[in-house]
This record gives sequence, structure tokens and C-alpha cells, in this order.
Amino acid sequence: MNEPFDIDAYIGKVPNFPKEGILFYDISPILQHPPALAHVIQKIQHHYKDQPIDAIAGLEARGFYFAPALAIAMQKPFYPIRKAGKLPGKVDSQSYDLEYGSASIEMQPAPQLAGKRVLLLDDLIATGGTLQAAATLLQRQGATVEDLCGVIGLPFLNYQESLASFRIYTLINYD
Ligand code: AMP
Repeated sequence: MNEPFDIDAYIGKVPNFPKEGILFYDISPILQHPPALAHVIQKIQHHYKDQPIDAIAGLEARGFYFAPALAIAMQKPFYPIRKAGKLPGKVDSQSYDLEYGSASIEMQPAPQLAGKRVLLLDDLIATGGTLQAAATLLQRQGATVEDLCGVIGLPFLNYQESLASFRIYTLINYD
């Protein structure tokens, strides 16, 4: 791993998007610089290298930018959790509140995850509502969810409290 690597330089800050008063953290530049994307994936992989992770789950849409790459790096299966109405066949649903608005997420039945330890990944953790809903979906499949990862954390939105029962790893935090 090449340290130090200034990941902040690859995160855009867009005021008032998608609505007034929100500072949107745009991770697109990471994707457009392979060394930056490799750094992110290697950091996460390194963080969990001694943990008995059985599978990776990631959130649509921006969690999908990272989770399959991590799944390849860690050689673990990837389970997508998508916005309502996107996955075919039987699904389980969970609604949740966002920093802006509310939504519902879904996953396909995955009985093979029963008793398995799943690492849950998204691009950014704000209030923690999205990851909590995703963890609930996985837990209903019998999965063990102890580890949550965000490339970015916004601790001033108090996700540590709403996600107090999990171990949380973020690469960079903004106040
Ligand atoms: P939350 O459920 O409040 O933790 O919100 C996290 C989800 O909303 C993630 O999927 C993020 O992609 C998105 N999100 C929330 N706030 C922001 C923000 N300020 N910039 C970029 N994405 C955000």
C-alpha cells in the first residue's frame, strides 16, 4: 500500500446538492483515478484481513462502485441490496429515512447467508439509516452483520449512536 495517500483530493464537495443545505460528497474522481480506487479497496481489504468475513453486501447505487471490487480483492461473494422495484422475483423489503427523504431497499432471499458473517459496504455513512435498514435485511436472512464500512463518514450526523451495535470503519471523515 502506498502511504500516505490523500484520498480527500479525490472527493468532490458539491454544495446544495441534491437540495439546498446539503454538502454532497462526490466520489466520482476516485473512480476516474485507478490508483485512488486501488488505494480505497486495498485499505478496506487490509482493515478486514484478519476478520472471518464470508460475504460482502453493498448498497445501490454508489456502494456498487466499491463493493464488487472489494469482493474480488477479498475473494468473497457479493450480494447487492437495491432500491425498491429493481430486483426480480421474490424480495424482502425494508424502509428507512435518509439525510434527504425516505426510501425502501430490497434484497433477494439468500438462505445461504444464514450463520455467515457479512461485511456491509456503502460509499458514505451519514445518519446510518441506510446501513441499518440493509443490516436488518441481511439479519432477516440469518446473516451475522457486525461490520459496516463507508468510504466516507459524516460523524456530525451521529451515525455512531444509531449504529452503536456495529463495528464501523470509514476511510475518511468530514465534520
Ligand atoms: P444515511 O442513511 O443517512 O447514512 O445516508 C447514507 C446514504 O445516503 C448513502 O447511500 C450515501 O450515498 C447517501 N448520502 C447521504 N448524505 C450524503 C452526502 N452528503 N453526500 C453524498 N451522499 C450522501
